Amino acid sequence: MSQIKFVSFMTLENNKNLVSNYQSSKYSWLKSGGKINKLYKIYNFSELSSLFNRKQLKTKSLLVIGNLSNTLIKDEGFKGLGIKLLGDFANVQIYHDYMLVGAAVLDNYLSKFCYQKSITGYEFLYTIPGSIGGNIFMNAGCYNQEIKDKLISVIFFDTNDKKIYEENINDLEFDYRKGFQRKNTIILYGKFKVTHGNQNYIKNLMQEYANIRNQTQPQKVNCCGSIFKNPFNQSAWKLIRTSIDESFYHGPIKLSKKHSNFFENEPNISANSIDLFISNIQKRVSDKHKIMLEKELRIIG
Ligand SMILES: Cc1cc2nc3c(=O)[nH]c(=O)nc-3n(C[C@H](O)[C@H](O)[C@H](O)COP(=O)(O)OP(=O)(O)OC[C@H]3O[C@@H](n4cnc5c(N)ncnc54)[C@H](O)[C@@H]3O)c2cc1C
Repeated sequence: MSQIKFVSFMTLENNKNLVSNYQSSKYSWLKSGGKINKLYKIYNFSELSSLFNRKQLKTKSLLVIGNLSNTLIKDEGFKGLGIKLLGDFANVQIYHDYMLVGAAVLDNYLSKFCYQKSITGYEFLYTIPGSIGGNIFMNAGCYNQEIKDKLISVIFFDTNDKKIYEENINDLEFDYRKGFQRKNTIILYGKFKVTHGNQNYIKNLMQEYANIRNQTQPQKVNCCGSIFKNPFNQSAWKLIRTSIDESFYHGPIKLSKKHSNFFENEPNISANSIDLFISNIQKRVSDKHKIMLEKELRIIG
């Protein structure tokens, strides 16, 4: 692990950087979720450093949000320190044989950017609605690809010693839907491989992935993608389908008929009722198959 040095010259302005009572339900893919008491919007290294060097800052617990496509904050809200990266962290820079991608860059944007630059390997990101930060945290993936396959290193801020580090992917233990999940850290950038390819091939693959998704998963509904991780050698959707009754497919929070590991919910529905719905599914599967499904959705609170 190597440390990256930088010079800080800016201070934080409360009216630009601080959002009090940030309503996650307004922005989350589920259109549900409690408030974040204090959310700081951070646009560059200097603001980050300035925030964490404040004497009065209390960092009991930290929540970094990306595009909120895999997060549900319970109704009581989050009382710790919320961080959202923007600005400099929403840029992609191409160097000779790697790309430096900010944590706030959206997966879909990166995929289209790569297409424009004839860079192949990022077609699968076209269909994932998260950000690169959330993606590196989750080791997100689909169609037999995961972000770890493309990563060279992760650049992150350690809120304990207030320093920036770079760590090589070979020294990190990424696993299925478990990426860089180190406590008290903020993922700032991913350094990614660059492989050039044929633009038509890239475009067709992106379209193919989008078509598969349209056919197999619900579209234009409030959802979080897969609720549960697939247990080893098993499909969560099959375990769910064979454990529940028809009532789970009806009501304001309901499983998708297209894909039983997805649910759809009405907007502004209580986050705690979604949590309960998920626990009920977990219990049914456990009773029937003696398997405790592990949530892929991050539930905060
Ligand atoms: C319709 C739909 C389809 C989906 N399909 C897929 C799929 O095919 N494959 C797949 O893997 N996932 C899928 N997902 C889930 C989701 O898109 C991914 O997990 C994505 O990587 C989450 O990114 P995000 O920016 O939305 O993260 P968020 O939901 O905002 O955060 C997720 C977690 O990452 C942490 N985090 C986010 N940014 C940072 C950062 N900069 N530093 C530290 N921690 C951070 C958060 O604290 C949280 O714990 C889908 C979701 C939806 C709604």
